[in-house]
Amino acid sequence: MADVWNWQLGRTMTYPFEESRPRRQAGAVFDTNKCIGCQTCTMACKTCWTSGVGQEYVFWNNVETKPWGSYPMAWDVRVLEQLGPQHWADGVYRGKTIFEAAPPSKTQVGWAPDPIDYAYPNRGEDETNRTITKADFHLTLPYDIWFFYLPRVCNHCTYPACLQSCPRTSIYKRPEDGIVLVDQQRCRGYQVCVEACPYKKTFFNQATGISEKCVFCFPAVEQGILPRCMRTCIGKIRTFGYVSTPEQAREDNPVDFLVHVRKVGLPLYPQLGLEPNVYYIPPVHVADEAFLTMLFGPGAAAAQQTYRAAMEGGDDELLAVLLLNVSTDRIITRFALQAGVAIGWDDNGDEVARVPLREPVIVRPAHDAALSAYRYNVP
Ligand code: SF4
Ligand code: SF4
Repeated sequence: MADVWNWQLGRTMTYPFEESRPRRQAGAVFDTNKCIGCQTCTMACKTCWTSGVGQEYVFWNNVETKPWGSYPMAWDVRVLEQLGPQHWADGVYRGKTIFEAAPPSKTQVGWAPDPIDYAYPNRGEDETNRTITKADFHLTLPYDIWFFYLPRVCNHCTYPACLQSCPRTSIYKRPEDGIVLVDQQRCRGYQVCVEACPYKKTFFNQATGISEKCVFCFPAVEQGILPRCMRTCIGKIRTFGYVSTPEQAREDNPVDFLVHVRKVGLPLYPQLGLEPNVYYIPPVHVADEAFLTMLFGPGAAAAQQTYRAAMEGGDDELLAVLLLNVSTDRIITRFALQAGVAIGWDDNGDEVARVPLREPVIVRPAHDAALSAYRYNVP
């Protein structure tokens, strides 16, 4: 075991391999406040990558409703139970990661799902955290009664549990962009990775007998194009690009801006210790701070406040980054706000998106004398 730096934990932790970061790391930020649970991303991925025989239960992208939804069944509860107490103090995680909690015979704690655990990917959909009674009909922000959608893909972790577990060394992390892939020629289907990944984002193909996982649509990414689940997102909740370590963060990089500058993009279950590279803006309507801290770490309450302030008109730069989401199918690696317009550039320095922060409002006279007609002004 090596000592490696995990900036999300604010400390070093043990991992079976030395720290070896890619030249740059592909990553994303999902705004849970805008996800409408339409599952377009799920279907876009399904029809592109996992529509074959043996992949019937496989969703590289899924969207679950928190607090009750989970795919496979209880994936997070079952791994969190194995960690023991999960305390944070002054931004530093004081509990054990899945690597540090491992028994002597293993390099991580984990569990292997049964096929039935994958059978109900929509269980718990749209269910609130508790039953609504008449007394709860009038709600004020943040709500005591809530649910929210949590879209999930592989996190292309900095310290992947799947990779370190594989006895065939079939799983590798690309040095050019940090995308984690399973070598389909080397894999023999031992399924150790399925047990090891706490997010349950490696899958066993029953027909081929080989394990598979989300590939972050690397053929598109290599061309500077967004992955399919991001490109098709109806709610435009997804910022895709490259995430730096805190000390190398660039203010004009959209992902860095959300994660490191405004700190609204937070990792999912950072206490697991994988340094996941998909981040989430926590839902602002949820009052249960303990639950959000469990999911997104100690920055959840501050992220809610920052986001709410931006939506109330207090932070045009943050608004600009979020408005650029899915405004083009190109990957935006640099952005700026100029004269009320959010502008995005790709890796080549070409301008690929231009979105006004505020649309002009035109109120027409109710009576059009030229046409002798009355109109409604519909906002
Ligand atoms: S989320 Fe799971 S499958 Fe993806 S890189 Fe991390 S450990 Fe591997
Ligand atoms: S397509 Fe976008 S809005 Fe729809 S469920 Fe997926 S992440 Fe949410």
